[in-house]
Amino acid sequence: MSSYDVIIIGSGPGGYVSAIRCAQLGLKTACVEGRETLGGTCLNVGCIPSKALLHATHMLHEAEHNFADMGLKGKSPSVDWAQMQTYKQNTIDTNTKGIEFLFKKNKIDWIKGWATIPEAGKVKVGDEVHEAKNIIIATGSEPASLPGVEVDETVVVTSTGALSLNKVPKKLVVIGAGVIGLELGSVYARLGTEVTVVEYLDAITPGMDGEVQKNFMRILKKQGVNFVMGAAVQGTEASKTKAKVTYKLRKDDSEHTLDADVVLVSTGRKPFHDGLGLESLGVELTKRGQIAVNDTWETSVKGIYAIGDVIEGPMLAHKAEDEGMAAAEVVAGKHGHVNYGVIPGVIYTHPEVANVGATEEQLKEEGRAYKVGKFSFMGNARAKAVFAGEGFVKLIADKETDRILGAHIIGPGAGDLIHEVCVAMEFGASAEDLAMTCHAHPTYSEAVREAALACGDGAIHM
Ligand SMILES: Cc1cc2nc3c(=O)[nH]c(=O)nc-3n(C[C@H](O)[C@H](O)[C@H](O)COP(=O)(O)OP(=O)(O)OC[C@H]3O[C@@H](n4cnc5c(N)ncnc54)[C@H](O)[C@@H]3O)c2cc1C
Repeated sequence: MSSYDVIIIGSGPGGYVSAIRCAQLGLKTACVEGRETLGGTCLNVGCIPSKALLHATHMLHEAEHNFADMGLKGKSPSVDWAQMQTYKQNTIDTNTKGIEFLFKKNKIDWIKGWATIPEAGKVKVGDEVHEAKNIIIATGSEPASLPGVEVDETVVVTSTGALSLNKVPKKLVVIGAGVIGLELGSVYARLGTEVTVVEYLDAITPGMDGEVQKNFMRILKKQGVNFVMGAAVQGTEASKTKAKVTYKLRKDDSEHTLDADVVLVSTGRKPFHDGLGLESLGVELTKRGQIAVNDTWETSVKGIYAIGDVIEGPMLAHKAEDEGMAAAEVVAGKHGHVNYGVIPGVIYTHPEVANVGATEEQLKEEGRAYKVGKFSFMGNARAKAVFAGEGFVKLIADKETDRILGAHIIGPGAGDLIHEVCVAMEFGASAEDLAMTCHAHPTYSEAVREAALACGDGAIHM
């Protein structure tokens, strides 16, 4: 039996980051992982492989649509799907091996296998029981199921199957217009697949700024993605190579079917804590099945903490990482902090979509007085030079104090631009603070400054 100051269960972005921080803080640390490789959903079947495919297919899109206009003539590249899969796998491998390297560097023991917690202070993996003064559960999430839809990961797939299809399908039906469905839908639309997204609600990407939702949907339609909105999927029927999706339109209850070579079920994810033995330990869950924690990420059982997708909050890698670091600080007797009001969200389509803080819709509901500064990328010289003038930056500030309350960006590099606003919000900055900060020309970031100027006396280039 080996004993540790802390054992972390799960090596996703929550778990591995927490392990590194624990080790940096001088704690004897181990991390248990059931998968063959470290990095969790994010590195193996989530953020990283999806971004590799988005990058490769964006390059194809550029070659097909913009190269000739820039004087780059020649045949468009053809798609070697097997090689694209190899590229994706190499990207995964270099990243997961990177975590292995960091574990060695920080002297973190990687315990291979699936963990259970027989009692507080003990973690069992296989036949071995390890002692731990503290346990951090970071077991992540799994795809949510949908009644009437049986996933076989070949024809009816979750995001995991969709990342590794054996060929590019002619027709893809995506159930659910959330982030994962739209990113993977974009990948296949760029590869020439006829993509139809079926969504229960009347707007895509629920919870996002309404103006962004509308513009994003318009842009995706222009890129060839079809949408059936307000449609409740009743079920799927699948053979070995084809599937049929039946849905009812909510407005008139009429029933319709769609044929597909592949159906992607992307209706959200649910917390994963199977097999840990939480019930017998008395670890409390929320009504939605997440592990309940207090404001120091401790569960209802002393010495057992939980972070990441398995607890409440947005299922995002960076939210898991922040909680991982904060929980490590707590376990080490320090003060851990996560500012849940400043957690950005990004969709890595083209253009990218990013948001942080409040939406106009939320502020209206709260009855809070606000002002909006908006700037179109059509007024940004750099964006126009690279055929990326579509989209805008929308900055929301308090009407009286000018303090920034949120930002919503659709446009080139939105996923990076949003962090300027995040930093500003962390410092309690006003829109004027951003507007008075010199921004290099020509950069996309000038659009953020212009939106900040628009919160005051007006943008310059609009
Ligand atoms: C297709 C896709 C794309 C995504 N893209 C993004 C993105 O671009 N940006 C973003 O922020 N988020 C993205 N996400 C979400 C992101 O992957 C998750 O929010 C993140 O991985 C959560 O981290 P985690 O550490 O909580 O859990 P996970 O990454 O899920 O890791 C949990 C790990 O715990 C292990 N485990 C579980 N139970 C046990 C046990 N009993 N014993 C041992 N090991 C166990 C699992 O094997 C797993 O490896 C994406 C997700 C998907 C599916």
